[in-house]
Amino acid sequence: MRSAILAAAFGVLTCASSASVTAQQTPATKQPAAAPQARMDLRQVAPDVYMLESSLGSSNAAFVVTPDGVFVWDADVKTADQVMAAIRKTTDKKLKYVAISHPAGDHATGVWHYREDKPIFIATRTQMRDLYMQEAVEFAERKASNDPAQAAYKTAELVRPDIAFDGALTLNFGGLTFQLTEEGQGHSTSDVTLYIPQRRVMMMGDLLDTEIHPGQGESAMVFFSNPRRWIQVLDRIMDRKLPVDTYIPGHGPVHIGRGVADLEEQKRYWIVIRDEMSKMIMAGKTIKQIQDEFKVPQEFAHYRRPARLKQLLVPMYHQLVEQGYNP
Ligand SMILES: [Zn+2]
Repeated sequence: MRSAILAAAFGVLTCASSASVTAQQTPATKQPAAAPQARMDLRQVAPDVYMLESSLGSSNAAFVVTPDGVFVWDADVKTADQVMAAIRKTTDKKLKYVAISHPAGDHATGVWHYREDKPIFIATRTQMRDLYMQEAVEFAERKASNDPAQAAYKTAELVRPDIAFDGALTLNFGGLTFQLTEEGQGHSTSDVTLYIPQRRVMMMGDLLDTEIHPGQGESAMVFFSNPRRWIQVLDRIMDRKLPVDTYIPGHGPVHIGRGVADLEEQKRYWIVIRDEMSKMIMAGKTIKQIQDEFKVPQEFAHYRRPARLKQLLVPMYHQLVEQGYNP
């Protein structure tokens, strides 16, 4: 069992996010008969702030407990039941708000599991549009699918946001300040962060993946992950010089107290990978050759899910060829 899980984590499965195996991606390896179930491990990050880490390196979730109720961050239909159970074990307070980092399947499909408490679902207008449009189509396809990997969709419904904002939204709730900021399009059509100044934490969604290769950020078969935009977004966040002790990643383990070093590493990842790729393009390599020969630079050699990098190289190749290096 253990080896089956490891095999899945390290290569057989494609990204659960945007997991959407599409015609444009590397042909999927044969699916296992029973899809491995991610375990969501609970970790306290700061007073009242908790993160749930996916044991398979799929999407994380987080929640914040206040005297007036619980604020929840991200929901994957495959694991949000575990998030709900963890909240119930931690507090008797009800869920009051849910927000999502971006509108991908592994972050935005699981709000249905929170329905008992009728939380208010907050999103950006772009995220809301995506959830009504292409993400709703993908949800319906997965619900109709007999693929065991999509079994969680069978009984679930896609919940649409109640409130949508553009730019930024600040919520004073339960004695804390929740600052939601639409950061732009580094990984998806609308990447949002959540900063809680009193707790010195910032939730990054997939703008930060720790010890794991980032995903392509697929939406309607367009891949939004873009190193240039991603670096710009990270620079803008770092320029704010916020007093943040811990940045909570969308995938991978949380590094409590590491602070801005996590964002610097994510930025370096893009610069180094892009440099490597540019050299190969200039040497006349085809995308197939680059996928086969690409050597992950030393600093990132221990990152999990190398299959995600192999996928990412395709949109990166086209971005570099079409737009130039343009750092
Ligand atoms: Zn993700």
